[in-house]
Amino acid sequence: MNKLKRCAVISRIVILSFALSLTLVARAAETADTIVTNAKVYTVNPQQKWAEAIAVRGENILAVGDAKQIEAYRGASTKVIDAKGHLVLPGFTDCHVHFMSGSLGLTQVDLNGANTVEEIQKRVKEYAASHPNLPWITGMGWQYPVFGPTALPTKKMLDDVIPDRPVYMVAYDGHSSWANSKALAMAGIDQNTPDPPNGKIVRDSKGEATGALKEAAGDLVERLMPKPTREERLAALRKGFHQANQFGVVRVHSAGGDFGYLDLYDELRKSGELTVRQYIAYFLDPPELTSEAIEKMEAARKKYNDAWISGGAVKTMLDGVIEAHTAAVLGNYADDTTQSGKLFWDPDKYKQAITEIDKRGFQIFTHAIGDRAVRLAFDAYENAQKTNHTSDDRPRIEHIETITAQDIPRFGKLGVIASFQPLHTDPNDDTLKVWAVAAGPDRVSRAWPWRSVEKSGGKLAFGSDWPVVTVSPWPGVQNALTRQTAEGEPAGGWIPQERISLEDAIQGYTLGAAFAGRREKTEGSLEPGKVADLIILSKDLFKIEPPDVLNEEVLVTMVGGKVVYESASWTNLKATGTN
Ligand SMILES: [Zn+2]
Repeated sequence: MNKLKRCAVISRIVILSFALSLTLVARAAETADTIVTNAKVYTVNPQQKWAEAIAVRGENILAVGDAKQIEAYRGASTKVIDAKGHLVLPGFTDCHVHFMSGSLGLTQVDLNGANTVEEIQKRVKEYAASHPNLPWITGMGWQYPVFGPTALPTKKMLDDVIPDRPVYMVAYDGHSSWANSKALAMAGIDQNTPDPPNGKIVRDSKGEATGALKEAAGDLVERLMPKPTREERLAALRKGFHQANQFGVVRVHSAGGDFGYLDLYDELRKSGELTVRQYIAYFLDPPELTSEAIEKMEAARKKYNDAWISGGAVKTMLDGVIEAHTAAVLGNYADDTTQSGKLFWDPDKYKQAITEIDKRGFQIFTHAIGDRAVRLAFDAYENAQKTNHTSDDRPRIEHIETITAQDIPRFGKLGVIASFQPLHTDPNDDTLKVWAVAAGPDRVSRAWPWRSVEKSGGKLAFGSDWPVVTVSPWPGVQNALTRQTAEGEPAGGWIPQERISLEDAIQGYTLGAAFAGRREKTEGSLEPGKVADLIILSKDLFKIEPPDVLNEEVLVTMVGGKVVYESASWTNLKATGTN
């Protein structure tokens, strides 16, 4: 080393240590608003994985360290949260929700977990009886296997319980719906009604509508339903925030249905009621990207771009779902070789739209479920990157239920985010008896390939697709670890080679999720300067058996330095002072 160089090094060391002592002094002088201590903190920060305490000031984290270090930040008015040795994690992000729809669902008939037609009828009837003045009975959450070999419900099943009011029920995945005779009559759906574009009116052998409606055919009925008022929507959102916080969710990426309500979220922010950070995508419908759409996207991005509400993303859909044979597959479906699904976009128009969106710096979320749709999304992203010379634009593919082996490494190669919803993989009857039969054994061998994507350098982002499934991430984490149902079926897990580790599952809902929303510099892990979003859990995920993750309970949720949720058991714990 020559003299000059050595000097430079030494002086740099001197400056560095001087700067370090300065920050230490400055830090000790800073007082925390809140200290969370006596905790087992898993930070998700690779530089400092574990800690005991966290100091918070304003909306952000001041320091993370051992209890003694953090004690130095305590002032006369500092609030202290004794975590009583419980596990603390960063608050969770749900990378794929339809928040308004999920929130409104909390006010409708909930068909989740209804396993027989009788159970569905009972719930519909009870709800209708307790809401005698509602002109329409609406709900969601029905599952295909409940209806036997056809996997589709009929209008008669609803007519039997509600003949005099229109009834409209959306399937758990949002891709099919179900109307009673009254609703069909009001919509004017009869033998002569043509199928709408991207939709199908299911008919019997005489050509009469059965009551089941696929994809866009549901709009024929939906458009007649009275729209919820502004006040009803605000009330629903408050319920939605509470539900999300209760499960430890502090940030969502909205994949459609919320763009038109940005002002409602803003209103709730102003009144101090927004407790779930919102990244809201503009929903782009085919056949093309119009200048009007671009104007709306640009205006939203300009107006909303902070840590609480932001635009800047675009969601579009390339296809439907496997169960209804509406996902676009290469070749054809295993159980019906006459079908291969359909792309919602003309491939060239889609590529053009993606290139323009990418050029403007928006982030793209493409729903692609069939292996053909997934491939087209990659092709379009690759083409956009080449045309625009962009890098680190982080386009996303949502769902990725089926994919060819040769496309899996493209996540890593092109920097495309793999946005999965682990609970969709739940190996229940719907997955094994409907989904797997339609997809066929070859596609099944690469069903929801989390581990393969990871191994080939791709980045995972996890979510729920609420209201398709619960907004609680814990059944999703359990599935990511086990690929088993709540009952532990099948033994050893379904396609077990695609299971992932607990650390990686947490990452998918925290730092990985933040990366997938372009916010990893300020969110996703517990470290100084990042947002003070954290959760205290009842059970130590690192100690319990993977199936028990399902019943994980969130004790406390903090968002932006404020406690926004405390469970009843936590309130008791605090009162008794016992662990
Ligand atoms: Zn969705």
